[in-house]
Amino acid sequence: MRLILLGPPGAGKGTQAQRIVEKYGIPQLSTGDMLRAAVQAGTEVGKRAKAVMDAGKLVSDDIVIAIVSERIDQPDCENGFILDGFPRTLVQADATEAMLKGKGLELSKVVEIQVDDKILADRVSGRYTCANCGAGYHDTNVKPKVEGVCDRCGSTHFKRRPDDNRETVVTRLGAYYKETSPLIGYYYAKGKLQSVDGMADIDHVTGEIEGILSKL
Ligand code: ADP
Ligand code: ADP
Ligand code: ZN
Repeated sequence: MRLILLGPPGAGKGTQAQRIVEKYGIPQLSTGDMLRAAVQAGTEVGKRAKAVMDAGKLVSDDIVIAIVSERIDQPDCENGFILDGFPRTLVQADATEAMLKGKGLELSKVVEIQVDDKILADRVSGRYTCANCGAGYHDTNVKPKVEGVCDRCGSTHFKRRPDDNRETVVTRLGAYYKETSPLIGYYYAKGKLQSVDGMADIDHVTGEIEGILSKL
């Protein structure tokens, strides 16, 4: 199964991807996570990407395309993968198609998570993750069962992304509408698009996505 999760920042792509990983055993390829890892490691790519990401703008197509192309050649992607946050431009979408075709692979589905603009700033600014295992939380929507302790791994260390602030969200949403939202029509025209209501609670959204995946 080769899946793309599409949606604005805060739509719930990462949250749903983690659940699909658990159920289907295929890896989540998040270009945001990969770029943040590159920044952390201080690689050449990381150095080029950092300021762009902090400003909420998009990293150049050639960088992200190269990262994804290399990643999907890894053995754990053999049975499929979930692309989270990629492709984000029409250039990236065309490159994805060429990439898959070159490897004799086909895209299974693009799941678009639809969320009203007005709640995205709250979703993004309230977001935090476990520093140890990456489990996702939210200040009001998704609290750990025991305050300050990760449900999944018991860690008491959490982190927030430097770009998850209300000012940057405006720029990121602008980038989404300008550069990424055209992909909705692009994949619809190819008969690949399915949309789900991302305003519903997390379990409900997961149920909707599983309904789509079970038909593949
Ligand atoms: P994305 O990967 O699309 O940017 P995330 O999955 O990180 O979005 O979700 C953004 C924030 O919103 C996280 O803090 C997450 O816990 C929370 N969240 C995700 N889905 C929902 C939902 N359906 N309802 C309420 N909060 C949600
Ligand atoms: P979110 O899901 O909240 O939008 P991501 O973690 O996917 O956040 O992305 C964080 C930042 O990383 C983006 O604002 C952008 O600067 C960069 N980025 C991630 N994926 C891409 C991509 N496919 N193309 C260009 N830039 C990207
Ligand atoms: Zn944890």
